[in-house]
Amino acid sequence: FTRIHQMIEPHVAARPDAVAIIDTDGTRVDWRGYAALVDEGAALMSGHGVGPGDRILVVAENCLAVAVAVMAASRLNAWAVPVNARMSAAEIARITAHAQPRLTLYTSHVSKEAASHAEAAGASRVETGFGAVHLLEADAGSGEPVEDGDGQVAVILYTTGTTGDPKGVMLTHGNLIFAAHASRDLRDLTAADHVYGALPLTHVFGLASMLMASALTGCTVELARRFTPEALHNALRRGATVVPAVPQMHALLMSYAAEHGHARLDSDRLRYVSSGAAPLDPAWKRKAEAFYGLPLQNGYGMTETTAGVSGTRNAIGDPDISVGPPLPGVDIRLDESIGKEPGVGEVQTKGPHIMKGYFRNPDATAQAITGDGYMRTGDLGRIDAEGRLHIVGRAKELIIRGGFNVYPPEVEAALNDHPAVVQSAVIGRMVQGDEEVLAFCQVKDPDAVTAADLAEYASGRLTGYKRPSRILIVEALPAAATGKILKHKLLSHFADRLA
Ligand code: ATP
Ligand code: MG
Repeated sequence: FTRIHQMIEPHVAARPDAVAIIDTDGTRVDWRGYAALVDEGAALMSGHGVGPGDRILVVAENCLAVAVAVMAASRLNAWAVPVNARMSAAEIARITAHAQPRLTLYTSHVSKEAASHAEAAGASRVETGFGAVHLLEADAGSGEPVEDGDGQVAVILYTTGTTGDPKGVMLTHGNLIFAAHASRDLRDLTAADHVYGALPLTHVFGLASMLMASALTGCTVELARRFTPEALHNALRRGATVVPAVPQMHALLMSYAAEHGHARLDSDRLRYVSSGAAPLDPAWKRKAEAFYGLPLQNGYGMTETTAGVSGTRNAIGDPDISVGPPLPGVDIRLDESIGKEPGVGEVQTKGPHIMKGYFRNPDATAQAITGDGYMRTGDLGRIDAEGRLHIVGRAKELIIRGGFNVYPPEVEAALNDHPAVVQSAVIGRMVQGDEEVLAFCQVKDPDAVTAADLAEYASGRLTGYKRPSRILIVEALPAAATGKILKHKLLSHFADRLA
């Protein structure tokens, strides 16, 4: 394959009636139907003037229309730019100004956020075979140069924005096709699988590990408009076989199941559960494995590496909390000049998974990719004797307190272990020339636990300099659509309480 939509073709020929996608309203679309909708989508787009190298912004929550739009863009050699409808109008405006789309598609039929963005923009409603969406044609927006073969850009995906403003990452057809193979092979996907799709298709983990891997394999993806623990639990009981998720989704499912008296999942179909996109802490892993009765695999990657860099293949109960060895074809090395202790360094990676670059930001691209082609991940890691990678934290988020290194994920893990804590986020804050360790804990019931209780609990698990200087109990943490916590927003979000 040199273009992503071609991955659908063999299934249309071999198993036209097999289910490709279950839409959010339960509609089942087979491979023949999916291919026909991609044709319809491509005709619609080209009717609106979309040609090679043009961007198509898709303001979306998960649904069939997003999958169709991404594949239809590929048919036209245009670039799909899926962004989450749950972002604010200002964030979408910023991305629109940067991406300069020829056409914007809003999944207004499934998302009230998308509908209100569409209304504000003055978009028009269009009935299609993949739903009644809204479209807005722009007069601006010129086609980017088109490359031959799989080096052509397929999508621009914006990074989560954990550490700052989201960056527009250009991923090529080759990047996505490689990621589809890597993800299929890591999970041993077959055409019989039923992947539960709660990850947003606007994020690289959802796009690559759900949509692309399933298109390559010919299995079914059941799209969930957005994550809820209840919907995931129901899907598991109805027969989902593979669940890729972020750690927060597993944590929320565990607390939902506990509240509803389900100590263990009742499913004989589920065979693979994984966590990725954010640190997985050992307590969550233990609890999740007890609930699923399966190992919880951990995958590491970033938008700039088309998701997959590494992934585990553990057995259940394995105490391993690494992110596994590099995927086949992926090279990793550590730059120890950036780490602050021996054996720990910045993870750098090279291979067919590395992005083409940041869109319209050659300086950032030059900073991110070394002269010899390695992506600087900004993550600190170490490699153990078995060749498995361990992520200890982000270089930017490393806290240096009284000359000692404090890695936020370790402090978060200690707090998350407390039964009252749903999730936590730890950051450093400069106070009189030294960094203090600030912890934000989302708890189940704010009346049932105090900051002092959590401080005492953490003291039993962390040496002195790692203990939070301050713990704030909160109802909710600022999060992206994936569930990932937006750490750079914590201080401003809770400014009142920190004053
Ligand atoms: P931004 O780059 O905009 O600040 P972001 O880095 O969070 O946001 P993503 O591309 O969604 O945007 O996330 C990639 C990052 O997520 C990695 O660099 C790493 O820090 C973290 N990550 C991903 N998978 C794992 C994992 N399994 N364990 C620990 N951290 C992970
Ligand atoms: Mg990043």
